Amino acid sequence: MLPFYENALALVKKAAKTGNFPQDLMTILEEPQSIHSVNIPVRMDNGSLRIFRGFRVQHNNAAGPYKGGIRYHPEVNMNEVKALALLMTMKCAVVNIPLGGGKGGIEVDSRKLSKKELEAMTRGYTRMLAPVIGPDKDIPAPDVYTDSTVMSWIYDEYSRVVGKDSPGVVTGKPIEIGGSLGRASATAQGGVYVLLELVKKLGKNPKDMTVAVQGFGNAGSFVAKLLYKEGFKIVAVSDSKGGMACLSGIDPVKAHTCKIDKQSVMECEIASEMFHVHGGADCRKVSNSELLTLPCDILVLSALENQVTSANAESIQAKIVLELANGPTNMEGDAILERRGILVLPDILANAGGVTVSYFEWVQNMKGEKWSEEAVAAKLKGKMVEAMGEVWSVSEQYKVGLRQAALISALRRLAPMVLGT
Ligand code: GLU
Repeated sequence: MLPFYENALALVKKAAKTGNFPQDLMTILEEPQSIHSVNIPVRMDNGSLRIFRGFRVQHNNAAGPYKGGIRYHPEVNMNEVKALALLMTMKCAVVNIPLGGGKGGIEVDSRKLSKKELEAMTRGYTRMLAPVIGPDKDIPAPDVYTDSTVMSWIYDEYSRVVGKDSPGVVTGKPIEIGGSLGRASATAQGGVYVLLELVKKLGKNPKDMTVAVQGFGNAGSFVAKLLYKEGFKIVAVSDSKGGMACLSGIDPVKAHTCKIDKQSVMECEIASEMFHVHGGADCRKVSNSELLTLPCDILVLSALENQVTSANAESIQAKIVLELANGPTNMEGDAILERRGILVLPDILANAGGVTVSYFEWVQNMKGEKWSEEAVAAKLKGKMVEAMGEVWSVSEQYKVGLRQAALISALRRLAPMVLGT
């Protein structure tokens, strides 16, 4: 199995070949423009000093300032951050926003840090990267295990360092200090718009479709709730510890309340309130890998990378895969899904709603505007529906799956900007 970056790059190269793009384009996109690695000293609550390793990869800024989230996870590494930055360049191009691709991360289990330690680490990371980020240079945002509070610390620390109030340095901020309405649910909402377009094209009715959701965090909890509202039946949800599957359906609002309360859906009682139909009689606990191969119509991947691989792609029973996580399907897994006729709504399209509303937030900050929730939702829908239409027509033109089509669509937009032609 290829490492994440080499895998992501191989997928882009495959699309570049199909679309017959000039070699120079791939020569430039093959490596990030710059890579920053920092060692952040943090005074822990017990008085000891710990060093945390952090990264920021700036992949390409031909389309605009680098843009991408910051991830806090114990397994963060340079290869992963490079892959995620490359995917950001492609993602911003698919939805046609004037931003480039970047990504950051700190190797940390943030759940084991106190709030004070987390804040000190975030502020230290921001100080060390302050010379290379900024509203016109590189704009971070939330990702796995980072949220609006973390963004507020970055905003504050960066503004202190440069001596100027700079809300545009980061997106995904709390609403009161310049965040955008609709940002928290944007990744999921964007995915739902794209999925609904596909469901329409297939002539199906959401009420007849079942959904399993892997990952119940920033994106997964929102998507389960939004899909439930649209009439889909949620038959399984999981988080990092494992999940629950219920044939008669799960109420995601109740399930999420229980998850917040107990830390994991695994800790919820099978007969608890969260299973609203038969009082839990038809529910059972499932492992994360079991969830992926459950019978369902739609599998939503909203956890981490490398979940669907040659080890399990043959056993996936869903007919549609919605990738809200970045890189959840590797190259071999992707080829198997494509051969089996399973429709994959790829990450760079399906989860682009997050960065799209980040872009809206940044525009509001730069212009000193505040848009209503309805205005944000309408603009987001417009962007997602347009991108989906374009990707769909590229897939018909080249007779390729939606992942290759999305990459070709991104490369088409990037080529003149990157090559300066
Ligand atoms: N972390 C999100 C992503 O992977 C959002 C990035 C952003 O808003 O800049 O797309």
